[in-house]
Amino acid sequence: WLAVAGSPRTVLLAAPRSFCAGVERAIEVVEHALRQRGAPVYVRKQIVHNTHVVGELSERGAVFVDELESVPEGATVVFSAHGVSPQVRTEAERRRLRVIDATCPLVTKVHVEARRFAGRGDTVVLIGHAGHEEVEGTLGEAPEHTVLVETVADVERLEVADPERVSYLTQTTLAVDEAAEVVDALRRRFPALRGPGSDDICYATTNRQDALAAIAEEAQLVLVVGSASSSNSRRLVELSQRRGTAAHLIEDAAAIRPDWLAGVRTVGLTAGASAPPRLVEEVIAILGGLGPVRAVERETARETVRFTLPSALRGPG
Ligand code: SF4
Repeated sequence: WLAVAGSPRTVLLAAPRSFCAGVERAIEVVEHALRQRGAPVYVRKQIVHNTHVVGELSERGAVFVDELESVPEGATVVFSAHGVSPQVRTEAERRRLRVIDATCPLVTKVHVEARRFAGRGDTVVLIGHAGHEEVEGTLGEAPEHTVLVETVADVERLEVADPERVSYLTQTTLAVDEAAEVVDALRRRFPALRGPGSDDICYATTNRQDALAAIAEEAQLVLVVGSASSSNSRRLVELSQRRGTAAHLIEDAAAIRPDWLAGVRTVGLTAGASAPPRLVEEVIAILGGLGPVRAVERETARETVRFTLPSALRGPG
């Protein structure tokens, strides 16, 4: 994987990439809670789906737990960016936990829609990936009235109480084009289908996919920095592969395998919304250590979204 002397390898950097506003806020929530209340601060599930972020916060005193039963009564617990079902909130109250909610406001938007659509008597079709924490939380808003579909084939099999009263919602981190196909299939089966006023797939997911789409075909190899548990990162890998360019999800620079780079002159580089920007810098540094590199950023959108901290944390701290 040595570069030919004198001809730098090109690294095409997709922009936007890496942290979104919801992830930045969630990390800040835990940092703020640690400063304000002292360690330990319990966090239900991974605060965001990234191994490095979780590891760094653990070192500073955050304790990650899978379920609330592992949190001592009366302790502070942070809910992750992916949101929780109402059942989890009730359980936290029962155990008298001091909750700080780091749910991304764009996930909360989907929860509000789930309640509204179910409240008007619709069957709510949630498009998303079974088992993902965000999906579990959204499903919990109206479990009796919500069905989960992942694919067009799921839509073909779907049975609903009243085909005239069907609404759909989506997970925030889906592939935009695949989700559109599922919505089209739903609309074919249920012409009276209603959906959210604005897309549930969030701005950050959309922007990262558009940015990668702009470089994927020019690159001979795409590297996506992100953890295997990160839905939006995995969608980026698939997007590149669908466009015919080999792609790998890497936790960090150490995961790069030399044979991937054999003969590759142009590498596309991006990072999922939960992956720290530092990890992207490290990838560029590692590539630079193998021979001259020319990094070129291709910006397809500028992000200005910022979210305020939850009210439980505002004020002196
Ligand atoms: Fe929020 Fe989107 Fe980021 Fe998820 S990916 S935390 S929904 S902004």
